[in-house]
Amino acid sequence: MERIILHIDMDAFFASVEQRDHEEYRGKPVIVGGLGPRGVVSTASYEARKFGVHSAQAMAIARRRCPNAVFLPPDHARYSAVSRQIFSILARFSPVIEPLSIDEGFLDLTGMERLMESPRDYGKAVKRAVREETGLTASVGIAPNKFLAKLASDMEKPDGLVVIRPEDAEKVLAPLPVSRIFGVGKKTEARLAALGFKTIGQLAAADRAKLARTLGDRMAAQLLALAHGLDDRPVEPRREAQSIGREETFDEDIHSREDAERVLLSLSEEVGWRLRREGLVARTVTLKLRFAPFDTYTRQQTFPDPVSYDEDIFEAARALFREFPIPPGRGIRLLGVSTGNLSMGGEVSLFDDHEKKDRLYDAIDKLKGRFGENILTRAGRKP
Ligand SMILES: [Mg+2]
Repeated sequence: MERIILHIDMDAFFASVEQRDHEEYRGKPVIVGGLGPRGVVSTASYEARKFGVHSAQAMAIARRRCPNAVFLPPDHARYSAVSRQIFSILARFSPVIEPLSIDEGFLDLTGMERLMESPRDYGKAVKRAVREETGLTASVGIAPNKFLAKLASDMEKPDGLVVIRPEDAEKVLAPLPVSRIFGVGKKTEARLAALGFKTIGQLAAADRAKLARTLGDRMAAQLLALAHGLDDRPVEPRREAQSIGREETFDEDIHSREDAERVLLSLSEEVGWRLRREGLVARTVTLKLRFAPFDTYTRQQTFPDPVSYDEDIFEAARALFREFPIPPGRGIRLLGVSTGNLSMGGEVSLFDDHEKKDRLYDAIDKLKGRFGENILTRAGRKP
């Protein structure tokens, strides 16, 4: 079924809240962020952006470029209160909302066609409600999937409204640089450029087998789908105690630790991929272990710094597994790896993880070396 996904992103959110609440800041460059010597810009108002100031920039550079700006430390409590108000407004427009960050989220409008004249009118209504009730402007993108909706909301910022129809997706994407693809960071962009792919249109025309030889099967498939404007990720409302995990029940009980670790590796890879795909990081990794027939145990590790890479998840799961005493003669019926205590990881690059991947492949190769080539079925474990 054709979906209708709306992405909404507040314009220069922190700076706009400051300008709304302080008349004297309006029309002036406002820069919100860390004001100390190592501070970083969180948000710059559009007046400040004209001077080349942008978020994630060192505050020292921002001060040089725009010395007369109003510099403010972030007031997170106030921004959070405004954010809650915005999401409560959005909740009137769709029951299926996925917050992406404090000022950004997806709404699934599929099946609500009867409530709207057109997707564009619905987008207008959302923007109007937010503006009238909060005094703030938002940019909205509407498209058949998340990737295109997020791309669309960015196309006419600020106060934008862009609808990408399914039949126009490839045309819209073709001239854009590959870096606009969800998950493509600097390293992947450079690798694709080395293969001759600079625009999304060029990538869409690439030969899949050739791409897979350099990038691997999964990455090639994922990139090609996105280059064709295809993205089947659902809009997923977030709950407090959310976790992402995978478990597998075995037809025949596992009796060797090596076999079990091979499964943990595969599960960890799946879980890491899903985390990064959703832009999430995790602070806990949980191992689930069931002995035949039903005795089930879980063991958990908490990290000071959040993780999202396969290798880190695998190492944690394996360490928990190695510490677990297995009674002699008991077969393992089920293994599971899950991650919890999730939060938004900011800009996560799905395809740039090569150094980590290399080390993961090293681990896999060692297992292969010990147990033979065909024991590893990395690609064959889709849920
Ligand atoms: Mg924003």
